Amino acid sequence: MDLVFRARRVVTPQGEIACDVGVVDGRIVAVEPRIDSPNVVHLNDDEVLLPGLVDTHVHVNDPGRSEWEGFETATRAAAAGGVTTIIDMPLNSIPPTVEVAALEIKRKAAATVSVDVGFWGGIVPGNLADLKPLHEAGVFGFKCFLLHSGVDEFPAVTTAELETALRQLATLDALTIVHAEDAHTVRDSEPDYAGFLASRPREAENKAISDVVELTRRTGARTHILHLSSSDALSILEAAKRESLRITAETCPHYLTFTAEEIHDGQTEFKCCPPIREAENREALWQGLRDGVIDLVVSDHSPSTVELKEGDFATAWGGIASLQLGLPAVWTGAQERGFQLTDVVRWMATHPARQVGLATKGAIEVGKDADFVVFAPDETFVVDKNKLHHRNPVTPYHGRTLNGVVRQTWLRGKEISQTRASSPKGKLLRRGEA
Ligand SMILES: [Zn+2]
Repeated sequence: MDLVFRARRVVTPQGEIACDVGVVDGRIVAVEPRIDSPNVVHLNDDEVLLPGLVDTHVHVNDPGRSEWEGFETATRAAAAGGVTTIIDMPLNSIPPTVEVAALEIKRKAAATVSVDVGFWGGIVPGNLADLKPLHEAGVFGFKCFLLHSGVDEFPAVTTAELETALRQLATLDALTIVHAEDAHTVRDSEPDYAGFLASRPREAENKAISDVVELTRRTGARTHILHLSSSDALSILEAAKRESLRITAETCPHYLTFTAEEIHDGQTEFKCCPPIREAENREALWQGLRDGVIDLVVSDHSPSTVELKEGDFATAWGGIASLQLGLPAVWTGAQERGFQLTDVVRWMATHPARQVGLATKGAIEVGKDADFVVFAPDETFVVDKNKLHHRNPVTPYHGRTLNGVVRQTWLRGKEISQTRASSPKGKLLRRGEA
């Protein structure tokens, strides 16, 4: 063995156990009660060994808007937060990833990364002929919007255009991920939070999700609902799953943490689309996780410059930066509601890896990459936006006390360090290769 991790608590697919985890050439080769080795990493009594998290919803914005975020800063934040794999969204960068040439430009921009990085492609009006080449070039699936995306170079598709794309993508068995808010239901926002919330009501999500369910039924394609906020839509998704349609859903740490009642006018760091809703809605989302209707929890890390996040709720950029904080944020809420770390690992590592077909990620078991988080679940900390690694110091978690500290992050058997030159480098992943 190159290395053996020894811990009282290891989160495995069989539950939380005391064991040794043996690593050779960056892969897990043994999970056993005891492995003899001169190279043992002993975890402290207050630490738990988790698999590295897989965050399939990250906007890196590089190239083109690298003043918002870049690959170096985003992946440093990921590593500090226990995330060892990210999949980058196709928009907010310029050019958006809607053709192979743009994917190649993005891969070049991602020259220096601290964790493994994969890429989503995009569906926009007029790029049908680019989908198969992008699929073959290794994107993990395709994102589309059913209403204005927030940036003009990534236009929305109509449901008719989405249906045509889904028919083609069904033949490739490719995954389509949808920003599901209905363009005809969403209105222009007022400057205050109540007005913003009312402009993007639950009905907008419910309608769009119903449309995606219907298109999934008609085309046989695999679809996924991004950043579910409206808990009313849980019954729609539950029925679709009962029907064995191939549809999944995610929610995000901010919908599970914050409530509309606590957001004051002017606190635009809380602005995201769809919006954070009422306390009762938040509890229903936790129930959706408990029932398995929501499959995964990923960050939707969508930063911008400090200036663009300022102003009022009608004008500020809609997006929350939380890549480094997802694990403690979700663990804090999960613990309060009686969930275990095994649940958090299922939502944030195992299911996201499975969702995008990353066979070697998302669990501590033989054959997987030796990607680990050494996590101290009972230690608390107060979030300081100035100490986070993403590019611009804005986050609604600033000043909040969270449970759970990431003490170490390991990528393919090497500890990631923010200072050592010997720190491992992330790989650029292609679908089907890892
Ligand atoms: Zn997003």
